[in-house]
Amino acid sequence: MKIVDMHCDTIIGLLQLQKEGKDVSLFDNHKHIDVKKMKQGDYLLQNFAIFTDFKNDDLMLHVQEGIDLYYQELEKNKDYIRAVYTYDDIEKNRQAGYMSAMLTLEEGDVVFDSLAILRNYYRLGVRMITLTWNYPNAIGSPNFNMESKKAYQDMFSYNTKDGLSEFGIAYVQEMERLGIIIDVSHLSDAGFYDVCKYTSKPFVASHSNARSVCGVSRNLSDDMIAQIAKRGGVIGINFCGDFLVESETGNAASRVEDMVKHIKHMKEIGGIDCIALGSDFDGIDSVLEIEDASQMGKLEAALLKEHFTQEEIEKICYKNVLRVYKEVL
Ligand SMILES: [Zn+2]
Repeated sequence: MKIVDMHCDTIIGLLQLQKEGKDVSLFDNHKHIDVKKMKQGDYLLQNFAIFTDFKNDDLMLHVQEGIDLYYQELEKNKDYIRAVYTYDDIEKNRQAGYMSAMLTLEEGDVVFDSLAILRNYYRLGVRMITLTWNYPNAIGSPNFNMESKKAYQDMFSYNTKDGLSEFGIAYVQEMERLGIIIDVSHLSDAGFYDVCKYTSKPFVASHSNARSVCGVSRNLSDDMIAQIAKRGGVIGINFCGDFLVESETGNAASRVEDMVKHIKHMKEIGGIDCIALGSDFDGIDSVLEIEDASQMGKLEAALLKEHFTQEEIEKICYKNVLRVYKEVL
């Protein structure tokens, strides 16, 4: 089964290793994702996020170094995987036997209050942006604010008052005009509804699950699932154990049967067309049943066992995301 995965942190992990003076390789490494494992897992496309912790990273330098490393590694691996900017690029790569890579940002506030810099990120190939990470920023606020909260127990309250700022509204509208996909994972509930109010194209939650199944604030309420579905967007199932099941201490293992529970619930609320994958590989430290990108077949097998049809599984694994990319990019 072909795989499209909307979120991983592999590039930033490689950048960290490089800064420690180690050799890095996207072809073959000890992380969850490399080209070899993607080949084994039958990947069609992987989104590679440049994640920024703006309290600790040198903003401009960090993002530029991450984007540079992404393109350096793609150049080294051009016999296997190539960057895409449009839906047609994905189709061309598929026909030529190449896998595809799409550049995304996790933390939208790396633009120094300037939409000019947002436009320059588009020119550098960025095609999806997660508006916030876990800090309030110039665009909006997250549900889980690491400035004031750090414990797993703090992940069960939802921010319904801090929506998008004026700048945030201009930012998402410029994203839509350019053809950058809006990603609401991490965003506050109030920000989510502002995205609904001030934009019109399909948008995504690239790596979030269902709150009715696991109540952490990184997951989506039933109404949010319904809103994304109504808009024609998609939700990427996140493999983090703590976003799949609630536990006492917040170190749950990531199990395929729990992923299936979220998928079944989303299907019931939003229909099959809103479900996709957003593993969060190389950004999560749970004990994983799907240990890395080479083992994505385990999910397909579990869905077959639960009587999902081949067509439904194709939608979840890649077709739904491609539909959104075709419409927005
Ligand atoms: Zn994230």
